[in-house]
Amino acid sequence: MFGAVLGDIIGSRFEFDRGGKRKDFELFTKECEYTDDSVMTAAIAEALLEAGKEADSETVKTKVIEQMCNWGKRYPDAGYGGMFRKWLRSKDHKPYGSYGNGSAMRVSAAGWLYDSLAKTREVARWTAEVSHNHPEGIKGAECTAAVIYLGRTGKNKEEIKRYVEQEFGYDLWETLEELRDRHEHNESCMDSLPKALISYFEGNSYEDVVRNAVSLGGDTDTLAAIAGAMAEGCYEIPAEMISEGKKYLDKDLLAVLEKINTERFHE
Ligand SMILES: [Mg+2]
Repeated sequence: MFGAVLGDIIGSRFEFDRGGKRKDFELFTKECEYTDDSVMTAAIAEALLEAGKEADSETVKTKVIEQMCNWGKRYPDAGYGGMFRKWLRSKDHKPYGSYGNGSAMRVSAAGWLYDSLAKTREVARWTAEVSHNHPEGIKGAECTAAVIYLGRTGKNKEEIKRYVEQEFGYDLWETLEELRDRHEHNESCMDSLPKALISYFEGNSYEDVVRNAVSLGGDTDTLAAIAGAMAEGCYEIPAEMISEGKKYLDKDLLAVLEKINTERFHE
């Protein structure tokens, strides 16, 4: 499960339009690093593995809060947003109505672990609800996990696109070029999901999808994390990209990501 993490690492050096909105850039340089997207992806993965396949909403949410706080403490400077940092430090960890793209960038484990689309969406919803309980925050998480699930269970892009439009109502009519012309840095699900989805639908390989997402500028690490997570559902990530990306990760992060690959509940 390296889709989100590699996207985060590759996109990290271009945040705030530092990339000139191009597709032809070097994937891995010494400026690359993992950020909050990778750390929280690992946190959710660990929480869902610990909770187990049959866990109810109470159990999943308790684990998700516990692991996000746990990982947040161990990686305090990964680049969390201000509100989320506050949530991590709070005593009661109450959801704060967020529609930030954090609910989508961290959710990918839910896309890999369960053996029905309904269950995948349900668990994705629970992972969002503990903090990002605004309808758009929840939708962003559910949609990301659903796209992974549909891709890995053999649906083609046309079918996935139809499903996304029908179920989630995102407007997917803009082209990458039109999206690039927008000069803004927006960290909401409403902005990031269509951008990640269009990067995914217009791409023809894992690498191409990540390049599309980075080329849009703005919140590039998170856009590439979400789009990369989706892409991993239907494309094999080239082995050399995985081995390059692994060089940026420490052993705790690696251990969780490897564990998802070997301990998927449905196998
Ligand atoms: Mg980040």
